[in-house]
Amino acid sequence: MTVKPGVANSLSLVEDQPEPAPEEGAILVEALAVGICGTDHEIIAGEYGEAPPAEDRLIIGHESLGRVLEDPTGTLQPGDLVAGIVRHPDPVPCPNCAVGEWDMCRNGQYTEHGIKALSGFARDRWRIEPQFAVKLDPALGRVGMLLEPTSVVAKAWDHIERIGHRAEWQPQTVLVTGAGPIGLLAALLATQRGLTVHVLDRATSGPKPDLVAALGASYHTVPVNDLPFDPDVVVECTGAPTVVIDVMCKAAPTGIVCLAGVSSGGRSIDFDAGALNRALVLENNVVFGSVNANRRHWNMAAQALSRADQSWLESLLTRRLPVERYAEAYAPEQGDIKVVLEFGS
Ligand SMILES: [Zn+2]
Repeated sequence: MTVKPGVANSLSLVEDQPEPAPEEGAILVEALAVGICGTDHEIIAGEYGEAPPAEDRLIIGHESLGRVLEDPTGTLQPGDLVAGIVRHPDPVPCPNCAVGEWDMCRNGQYTEHGIKALSGFARDRWRIEPQFAVKLDPALGRVGMLLEPTSVVAKAWDHIERIGHRAEWQPQTVLVTGAGPIGLLAALLATQRGLTVHVLDRATSGPKPDLVAALGASYHTVPVNDLPFDPDVVVECTGAPTVVIDVMCKAAPTGIVCLAGVSSGGRSIDFDAGALNRALVLENNVVFGSVNANRRHWNMAAQALSRADQSWLESLLTRRLPVERYAEAYAPEQGDIKVVLEFGS
């Protein structure tokens, strides 16, 4: 599956691609599936994405699941389930990339499979180096492409906990805003921590209310300010400007607000910046942004998925289509949570 970066609707299935070059990595992997997300839609719309140097097309797909065909390094065995880490460190490298924290890259020169200057995983076979290959529990054969979005929320939770431990910290209530794949997986990881979980979304029908209820969490469709509790932790996954501001004001004293949704920008709203400052200072609150994940977070995510109810994970995958039906797969539909493109048989 390829696009011409910067050209809208250039998505095409190219049938005469060469085998992945050995320089791409020692481990040869047979693709099983890729998950599709908002970033793919932006790349297809020509708003984002960069081809590898000296190439004019980008192979897309960054939420991978594959089966190892061969690994001469002996790190993995043929038949192992594997996902590829998306981001690679910048070549300088910056202080963070130098210690494997490419999720915290300081100079923006990192590369990303299927997004930025590295070929993606939406192809029959791909290669990866052992340090960017994450082995999955064999039981995750149908849902393992959820590892990438889970790694993003594993990082968010890792940082929430590190910030929380700046002082005595006994969080009880979590609010997740937005019940898309990231929000639902953030809620899953919250329930695994034994917290009381609330999820807020606009949808009053479709699969979201039931998916939240199945986690033992509460589902809300009211405005943030009408919620009958003040959350100790917020994971904001909508990027909607009014929701972002409202959750900052709504958090309980010593509250932590993790911003994980990306706003499109260009829209102004009126709000009282002084009142927000006052609330943050007088209640010792923290607001921080979180994106991407490093190897440690991918490992945490693999453990979280193994511990989760497999049928709940499977119910996040609202449409699964073979690669020949890619046009349908990449066209968003009402009620989609996560759409998956399947390879091979
Ligand atoms: Zn860097």
